[in-house]
Amino acid sequence: MNGKIRFAPSPTGYLHEGHLLSALYVWAAAQKWGLHIHLRIEDHDQSRARPEYIQSIYEDLSWFGFSWDSQSIQSERGRIYEAALQKLKAQNLVYPCYCSRKQLENENPKSETGEIVYKGKCREQGSASAIDTPHNLRVKIADKVIEWHDLRLGDFSENPKFQCGDFPIKDRDNQWTYQFAVCVDDIDEGITHVVRGEDIRSSTARQIELMGLLGRTSPPVYYHHPLIVDTSGKKLSKREMAHSLRQDKNAGISPKSLLGKVCFEAHLQPQNTPITLQQALNLAADRL
Ligand code: GLU
Repeated sequence: MNGKIRFAPSPTGYLHEGHLLSALYVWAAAQKWGLHIHLRIEDHDQSRARPEYIQSIYEDLSWFGFSWDSQSIQSERGRIYEAALQKLKAQNLVYPCYCSRKQLENENPKSETGEIVYKGKCREQGSASAIDTPHNLRVKIADKVIEWHDLRLGDFSENPKFQCGDFPIKDRDNQWTYQFAVCVDDIDEGITHVVRGEDIRSSTARQIELMGLLGRTSPPVYYHHPLIVDTSGKKLSKREMAHSLRQDKNAGISPKSLLGKVCFEAHLQPQNTPITLQQALNLAADRL
């Protein structure tokens, strides 16, 4: 094996066509580049994850014929996140933030992608408020340009300070955030290759920076794949995305028909005809 790739769905709903496309790219990359495949259930947000969604990830992937070499589930990894938090604290890189949602919205600028760029009010004030007041924990981000390369999209020079500023690693409900858990896991699980949808591309620079603070100096290789778009070129709507693969399966549609449809919608094949998993993987591999 030349490294390790992960597929990391969040069990906050049933898998949909967007997940199937991501899985095709991940498994195609693994075949093409000789990588170990790790399935990570990203249930860091216990208020949104549900056991039936977790179960359906295993079942739906297996139904299509995907298999994996190892797996992990974030809700069982609390001690690892706690140790990583201590590592940041030891470097004086963590502080509590007491800003309300409204304050965050009103007192900070937004990035090009519409994200709040936290200016660091609570960083400057120090922890003046009582620790039992609702707060999140933020990591201090340096004013530093991160240079990174995407195998499809090319070179990026981005400064997380102006994309998001200091960002939360634990939220006010005491849940680890996606950004924190994904960095700890990509380090701890030895992930060398990250293949995921381009909707997450803008998180990459901050993840590389946070991994650096946690001690990983050479980040994974990244490939952000195109998303499924509708006929007018727009990303699928929430309603279309909410339509699950499970509903199609229960309606008697075959895996081959769904693979063919997703490859057609993602412009991996010119017509909507049923194909096998291996054919779909070959189509995705041609894009890598
Ligand atoms: N859990 C994320 C999702 O389902 C994927 C995160 C990642 O690949 O970094 O969208």
